[in-house]
Amino acid sequence: EDRERVYLLFQSVVAEKSECDFECRIFRVDGLQRWIWGHGKIFSNSTGDAVKMLGMVLDITARKQLEEALVDREKEFRSLAESMPQIVWATRADGWNIYFNQQWVDYTGLSLEESHGQGWNKPFHPDDLKRAWDAWQNAVHNRGSYAMECRLRRVDGIYRWWLIRGVPALDEGGNIVKWFGTCTDIEDIKLNEAKLREKNIELERFTYMISHDLKSPLVTIGTFLNYLEQDLAKSDVDLVAKDMHYIAKAAEKMGRMLTELFEFTRVGRVRQKLVFAQWRDVVDEALGMVAGVIASRNVHVDIDDARVLLHGERERLVQIWQNLLDNAAKFGGDQADLRVHIGVEGQGTATIFFVCDNGIGIDPRYHEKIFLLFERLDTSAPGTGLGLALVKRVVEFYGGTIKVESRGLGFGACFRFTLPKAFENAEAKGDDT
Ligand code: ADP
Repeated sequence: EDRERVYLLFQSVVAEKSECDFECRIFRVDGLQRWIWGHGKIFSNSTGDAVKMLGMVLDITARKQLEEALVDREKEFRSLAESMPQIVWATRADGWNIYFNQQWVDYTGLSLEESHGQGWNKPFHPDDLKRAWDAWQNAVHNRGSYAMECRLRRVDGIYRWWLIRGVPALDEGGNIVKWFGTCTDIEDIKLNEAKLREKNIELERFTYMISHDLKSPLVTIGTFLNYLEQDLAKSDVDLVAKDMHYIAKAAEKMGRMLTELFEFTRVGRVRQKLVFAQWRDVVDEALGMVAGVIASRNVHVDIDDARVLLHGERERLVQIWQNLLDNAAKFGGDQADLRVHIGVEGQGTATIFFVCDNGIGIDPRYHEKIFLLFERLDTSAPGTGLGLALVKRVVEFYGGTIKVESRGLGFGACFRFTLPKAFENAEAKGDDT
């Protein structure tokens, strides 16, 4: 394969009376193929005619083999780096970038030309650059590896959190010659960490509330047991009956709180069958559950004429309207013409549901508080303060939010909420039920 090339080269050297370097493969006497490097030079006589060519050759097979191995290793490194789900990079000892894999290009939208050299810092969040620099400097000082978290800008302009790791490659003298590293997308882990922190705080509050609020009926029972003892000693039948009445009521209240608490903790944890249900049927079922209080307060209920298909746990969905309706009837105050309006606005996942009443209303100061566990503003009506906490939990389980609108006492209250996840499959199915 090399013969023709070398022959042509020699011909041109002779013609130009010049000299040349060349590399080619030759077969040794034992038949083994070797690589040689050669240098040839034409010598001319006094009249300028080429008379001889003198040259030397060196066996460079070992160097060639090393070079080939290096090319193979480079190819291996590249295919490994390209197959990694992470961003892979390499820099010179001074931090000058010499390599990024395709993940970097895809994520940042920067070309390799734009990213090489100092271009690596372009997608870094400005607030993180100094930290990144310091972490690297520290690693340079220690000649060790480093890891740091920072935000990198995605091609669409959104920043996500990444874990950047770098490892130095050292020469025999322990000097850094290159840096190799990866960037791993940890945005989801970060989000989950934040959610977990929030959940822990919620759990702490929850435990505190439970221990605090469940104690109060127990305190009542203890107090009236003492009275009972005294009243029995006095054989005062009327007072004994009164004491027992308070004890029974406190026990009943505690039972109710525990049942509702149990229900509350089951939301999202114990899954029921997922079904398709028409919003109107869900509301009607809820109305049936609170028919007693609605009738006793003589509430006039208006329901919008709309067809909205929901997908979810039917019982949980019913609980939302059941609790809101129950409250609307319970907290009617002295409103003679108590009215509740149940309806929907918007479409698809953005649909807003509302339950509005013209009852006692809620002071804006308490608009957030009423959704907390056991929080009650009006203790004259029966209840445990768990209803709205349960509603909020169900709404959030369906990816939605809930808020109350009320100008204050005497102005009625309007609860508005969304349930985006109850539409995910319902939209695909269409309104064919
Ligand atoms: P409960 O109904 O057991 O008291 P909730 O969690 O359902 O507990 O409600 C918390 C508090 O919010 C109620 O005690 C009441 O003070 C207030 N509230 C709820 N709904 C209404 C409403 N429709 N109108 C006025 N106040 C309300």
